[in-house]
Amino acid sequence: MVRENEIRASELAVEMPATTDAGLVFIGRIRTPWQSRLVCPRQGRADGPICRIELFEPWVRALDGITAYERLEVLYWLHLSRRDLVRQSPANDGNARGTFSLRTPVRPNPIGTSIATLVAQEGATLLVRGLDCLDDTPLLDIKPDRTLFTPIAPPQPGDFEVGDS
Ligand code: SAM
Repeated sequence: MVRENEIRASELAVEMPATTDAGLVFIGRIRTPWQSRLVCPRQGRADGPICRIELFEPWVRALDGITAYERLEVLYWLHLSRRDLVRQSPANDGNARGTFSLRTPVRPNPIGTSIATLVAQEGATLLVRGLDCLDDTPLLDIKPDRTLFTPIAPPQPGDFEVGDS
């Protein structure tokens, strides 16, 4: 069930800390067909509509080489989300679960991620499919899809033990 900013039965909000630690930079904005959460898809689809990722200066040169990749991991700031719920009821049926067991946009740091298919680059703009955010959502980062990379060497037994620093 789509949420605007209400708190539902069985949900739990906490007081947000006053200070922030990360100085995020919005590097662009995402243009999509969706003006309201009522119509925005819950997850992007590879056959979804073409959306535009518009990079701001001085970050445009950071797109060099990007057309080598068919799939991109796009990170964005779900800027209209409330951030203070630790238990949520996605179906609004009185049953709540912890925020970190959900892909809800309502989270302490409302970062959304999608794997998008790159359709074309037009200068400072990427045309992609596979997004699920509102029009004008701030862009945080773009990376080639991690599944396109293979580890340099397979891990060996004992390489990464819990407790290693
Ligand atoms: N694919 C991302 C993920 O899994 O991290 C986001 C998934 S989240 C369930 C997608 C929903 O977030 C949309 O259906 C819409 O209701 C909401 N949403 C999209 N853009 C938003 C924005 N800029 N601010 C707040 N909520 C947004």
